[in-house]
Amino acid sequence: MTLYGGIEAGGTKFVCAVGGGPDDIRDEIRFPTTTPEETIGQAVDFFRTHHAREPLTAVGIASFGPVDPDPTSPTWGYITTTPKPGWGQTDLAGPLRRALNVPIGFDTDVNGAALGEQRWGAARGLDTFVYLTVGTGLGGGAMVNGKLLHGMMHPEMGHMRLPHDFDADPYPGHCPFHGDCFEGLVCGPAIAARWGVDPRTLPPDHPAWALEAHYLALGLVNIITVLSPQRLVLGGGIMDQRQLFPMVRTNVQTLLNGYLQTPEILERIDEYIVPPGLGSRAGVLGAIALAENA
Ligand code: ZN
Repeated sequence: MTLYGGIEAGGTKFVCAVGGGPDDIRDEIRFPTTTPEETIGQAVDFFRTHHAREPLTAVGIASFGPVDPDPTSPTWGYITTTPKPGWGQTDLAGPLRRALNVPIGFDTDVNGAALGEQRWGAARGLDTFVYLTVGTGLGGGAMVNGKLLHGMMHPEMGHMRLPHDFDADPYPGHCPFHGDCFEGLVCGPAIAARWGVDPRTLPPDHPAWALEAHYLALGLVNIITVLSPQRLVLGGGIMDQRQLFPMVRTNVQTLLNGYLQTPEILERIDEYIVPPGLGSRAGVLGAIALAENA
């Protein structure tokens, strides 16, 4: 039985797991993201203890970013320009590789989740699709023609620009770089700041959700027209508000206005814009899928 390690490296917490897939998680630990030294040290300790008992074949890391995913780069495996204090230019993959001496798979948290969804979740059988997470931030990972999309670096879908009607929504946006980019308008902290309450306390028929669905649909239409994905998987804490899904689907159809005459858009949009098959476990299982690929 082949055993892998997976790290979902988030800005607020790390989840480390050992196993072979969704039905075979042997051990799991989670701890808050503090300093790089302490946090990476905890991950190394967890896997080293395991590795001594049952050898791991590889470890996958699905990390918050931006990251350097280019295996030919001297800073491969680094978290690069993150605004998170203390974490800029942090070598995340190196300490694990040195401690365990096994292959390391490394990618963004959302590319990892996309891979996990393709392996075990809502994107099985597809080769071109997008995974989007909407929570404290907003990020998108993509698989295109069977490969996770990297290019110059990796997609930063959360920072695309959207039409913003300041009369309808005077909130200036939450992004420290752009104000009212996609993430700046749509992430959980933006909803909280715009309405002055914790989004989880807003009732399902509150106008906050109609506005949220409007912005989400604008972003999705841009993604649909650029990448032609076969499916869009939407996860993260905000998407636990399941009333958003039908609103987003209807908004996407309205915005496309009959231009894309595909059964996915016209007839099967309920299967086209969907929640993750792996639920909140997409991140850590995605990291295990990255290990498998390594
Ligand atoms: Zn931005």
